[in-house]
Amino acid sequence: MNILLCTLGASWAVIPEILGWIAPNQVDLYAHHPQRALLDSLRQHHDLQPPDELWICTTEGDQTRRSLEQLRLWWHAIAEPLPLRIWTAAGTSQLASQHECAHIRELTLRATLLASERIAAGDPGGQLVLSLAGGRKTMSADLQTAGGIFGAHALLHVVGPEPLPSELLGRSTEERAKQPRLFSSPLPAELAKAIMPLVAGTGQHSELLDLALDGRTVHSQHFPLPEPEPNETLAWQMPPENDALFKELQERQRQSSDLMGNFLAQIAAQERHENWRSLYRLTPGQIQALRQTPLGSQHRQWLQTLPKADLHRHIGGCLDLPMQRQVAQAIWVQMTPQQRRQGLHCVQALLDSPEWPWNWPERLAASGLQRAERSAALLLHASEIQLQHNLFAVTEPRVGLKSGTRGFAAYERPGELSGSALLSHPAAINAYAKAIVEQARAEGLSYLELRGSPHKYRENAPAEFLVELRQALKNADAAVAPPQPATELSDSGPMVRIGFIWILDRRYPEKMQRTVEQAVQAQEHLAGFLLGLDLAGDEGTNNPTQLAPAFSSAFAECLPITIHAGEGESAENIWQAAYHLHADRIGHGLTLADHAALLARFRDRGTCLELCPTSNREVVGFRDPLVTASAGHPDYPLRKFLDRGLPVALCTDNPGISRTTLADEYLAAARMCEQGLSQWEALALIRQSFVHAFLPSAEREALLKSADQATFRLLSHASTPPLSVHDHQP
Ligand SMILES: [Zn+2]
Repeated sequence: MNILLCTLGASWAVIPEILGWIAPNQVDLYAHHPQRALLDSLRQHHDLQPPDELWICTTEGDQTRRSLEQLRLWWHAIAEPLPLRIWTAAGTSQLASQHECAHIRELTLRATLLASERIAAGDPGGQLVLSLAGGRKTMSADLQTAGGIFGAHALLHVVGPEPLPSELLGRSTEERAKQPRLFSSPLPAELAKAIMPLVAGTGQHSELLDLALDGRTVHSQHFPLPEPEPNETLAWQMPPENDALFKELQERQRQSSDLMGNFLAQIAAQERHENWRSLYRLTPGQIQALRQTPLGSQHRQWLQTLPKADLHRHIGGCLDLPMQRQVAQAIWVQMTPQQRRQGLHCVQALLDSPEWPWNWPERLAASGLQRAERSAALLLHASEIQLQHNLFAVTEPRVGLKSGTRGFAAYERPGELSGSALLSHPAAINAYAKAIVEQARAEGLSYLELRGSPHKYRENAPAEFLVELRQALKNADAAVAPPQPATELSDSGPMVRIGFIWILDRRYPEKMQRTVEQAVQAQEHLAGFLLGLDLAGDEGTNNPTQLAPAFSSAFAECLPITIHAGEGESAENIWQAAYHLHADRIGHGLTLADHAALLARFRDRGTCLELCPTSNREVVGFRDPLVTASAGHPDYPLRKFLDRGLPVALCTDNPGISRTTLADEYLAAARMCEQGLSQWEALALIRQSFVHAFLPSAEREALLKSADQATFRLLSHASTPPLSVHDHQP
């Protein structure tokens, strides 16, 4: 909805002069104007839309009465006029007294408030346009003030040479009689050229309106103005001075800094997770909008653009099928014709069959290079339908797979031709790293902690594998070390910082101590890239307490540690991870809700849970309104964790397996979380991931600062009116 609001005095013709410019379809007053093209381009430049209603505030008295009579005659003379609503300040005439001026000012303020609310309630993009051209100077000033408080798309004026041609002014009785007809069709060029409508400025909505004062914000329900029927005039009485909107606005101005302070203090009292520092500099209206808008699928692009961090992403399960094929291709071109024949021979039975036996991965499970070559042969020669069916479809529906007949293996099945199936081949690393960086960039990640088991990719020299991976990621334009002081200030562009977490497998306790020692040694020359340790593998096998002695060398070196725990198994496992393995973070930790004391301890100590909503739904089984098969499953514990102030980072786990992205995980979390998530909560969650990164504090602080600035730029920019730069002041 667009409203044109005008003040009006003795010269009624300013109304057609303005309307003829912004709504030429209504009355094409300037068809013969010598600068018609300029007028058109100015209107387009300022994106002025024709109004849906015309509102007029004016005084009473003889001059105004005659002016309104003329206006009505003109109104009947133009084709299909729009609804016209007129308010008069009852009893005013020449604006000769303080009281009269206060009366018209109050009317103008209330009409502008009402118009801005009408527009805000309509479709997005509605315009409030104010015409300063009519009435006495004090009335124009009132309207300009109102625009600067309630906001206006444009403030319009009409300028011209002095004196105007007398036909336009209607000096004589005869000229006056002709005026309504004269202004109802294109003016002759001679007359038109004396008029120049223009944009004199815009009005920004004042943040003082959105702050609570005496428990209320500024709204027309507190400062009512009855609305005249279309084409009617309503005489409006001044309310007692104490109820005046003008007084309220003055009071807000006086208390502005206190109001802002109270507003922020109230927010701080309500929230358990601090948001990005710069967001508290947004206007109260912007902050309230973020707090009140539920995060939904329409925000996918918004989430995508925001700088984000993923703290839990397995190298083995991150790539989608097209990316896996790219890696397979890199291996294939390095194979000799004989190796290719052998590879194909091994997978021929699968290629010939639409439905593969459940144990097909074992056919590929020859050790070392041969497994990668066979996987490459299968990836490159099986059809899309075969791969989709045997990797994904046979495991549907992907809800609570851990307790299904195939167990955890069904969850992992889509990743069978990825990770260690390919990475044992040296030719895979560059292509794999390139895909990881491209994927991270496409998802808008600023920071990524990859995790994997290098000793599974290269049993005899796992550290060497990491050195090669680091180089390959660097070649693909990722940052794999802290920024050098010299480059710290340079604009490095959208570079994603990637670190690595070494995963130990709890299923092989006998190898664990040696692997931990390898990791500790590797950390010495991979500092800044190898960031910490993780423990994964079936939680039902060996519990953290049993494995603790194997970790002693990692404890000695104070390596950061995250532990997969409480992913369907009891909270006791999480307790052991915290107290026997000294976990700084917990992968999943879903059953922590069952252990109140430990949960409180985690909150107080800042131990962060890495939650992966889609993976958690697939493995453990939680209700997601978008997934029909999840209907009978329990609610996701995210809301419980948030309400208790627990540090939580949303992560992807295996985006290739779960066919997800980090932005999609925020949307899944919002769907699965009781009461949903607001945009504001999503932003605070994004920040949590950066806060709990396994980086030395100096680098983490620098990363937080730059993400904070980028987030603020994106969010404050989103509400900057597009016209403010080019406006010329009168
Ligand atoms: Zn995981």
